[in-house]
Amino acid sequence: MKLSIKLMVLMMVVFSNPISGSSDYLELGRSILSDMVEIESTADMGLSTEVSKLSKDILLKNGFDDADLKVVGPTDTSKGLYAIYKGESSKKPAIVMAHIDVVPAVKDSWDTDPFELVEIDGFLHGRGSSDNKGGAAALITTFIRLKEEGFVPKNDIIMLLTGDEETGMESIIYFRDNFESVRRSPFAFNSDGGYITGTMKNPRAFRLQSAEKVYMTVTMTTSNRGGHSSIPRPDNAIYDLADAIKKVENYKFPISLNETTRATLEFTLNDAQGNDRDEIIAILEGETESDFDIVNNNSEVNAMLRTTCVATKLSAGHAENALPVSATATVNCRVLPHENPEDVFSALQQLVGQNVTVSSVSNFQKSPVSPITPEIETIVGEAIHKVFPNLPLVPTMSTGATDALHLGVLVYLFMGPVR
Ligand SMILES: [Zn+2]
Repeated sequence: MKLSIKLMVLMMVVFSNPISGSSDYLELGRSILSDMVEIESTADMGLSTEVSKLSKDILLKNGFDDADLKVVGPTDTSKGLYAIYKGESSKKPAIVMAHIDVVPAVKDSWDTDPFELVEIDGFLHGRGSSDNKGGAAALITTFIRLKEEGFVPKNDIIMLLTGDEETGMESIIYFRDNFESVRRSPFAFNSDGGYITGTMKNPRAFRLQSAEKVYMTVTMTTSNRGGHSSIPRPDNAIYDLADAIKKVENYKFPISLNETTRATLEFTLNDAQGNDRDEIIAILEGETESDFDIVNNNSEVNAMLRTTCVATKLSAGHAENALPVSATATVNCRVLPHENPEDVFSALQQLVGQNVTVSSVSNFQKSPVSPITPEIETIVGEAIHKVFPNLPLVPTMSTGATDALHLGVLVYLFMGPVR
């Protein structure tokens, strides 16, 4: 992977918008974001395509060619935007990406109208302002700025705005399957993750997301010949399923580190004291079986260090006066990216026994760790330090999943909210 020095410049500019860019571009980015937030692009409303059209219109008005801007996607309502910033060569394009759909907002639970961008105490409020329309607005603003400044990158830069990241992720799959240029790209920067810890005034670290856990859902089903509830028997599909679910509840997959989570843990050692410190050192040295307080008492640490599976849905029985003929639980697993989902599947089947049928709900997509090479560290580090001098760069794994999952190239997530 060879990254041009000019892309570094792009990154710096991305970083300086909207955090501390020149005020004109800050205003531009903000007005784009405001227009995007006003479009209720949830899956139910089906308005992602409208956000993509808006994005295309903005780029058209700012000197981009119609031929380089495509509003396309798997369905009429979830179209995304494919936009090319032309470079000297189109051989190894770099991808920058964001998603423009949002999860629904319950208006009554908001202090402000979720579909209107407002500033309160220096923070922008509005559905999707950080996840992830803020990223999309910053990327569009950056494209415009670079064009106005006459920047010509060594390779094309492709912006992908996807229309259904929060639901089916079909939009990114569409881009991958229908654009050879996307498949040719050696890497992508995704604005839908990574974050700064601390506050903007007192930032502690920049978490560069370079790994995601793998999403895998299975069902567990028990069956029974049934009968009338007036004559109960010890064998019962619901009780059998309950036993299986209790086994899932009590089972712990082994603690296992990859290069990203190892780097995260090493960073946390800087502040850790007492028992926490001893336990982190033991984990870093390879201890996997002990009952660590730091893992047991912190669900986020637990999710970072091991594969997890949890029951999320239940369905059983067909009448209140009949013995159930079947019972099904949905179990959602988040598999560590360096582990094999097939092995997790087998472990679950072994755990609950042959009388419980374990089935895959859908094909899982493996998502290997993207290594933080010295080159990536230099590029991202220099970009960050332009805005936040000396801020440590810490690799991070998300326990969730983003569009990056389906891209099939190295993906680095770099521009999420302050946490
Ligand atoms: Zn997101």
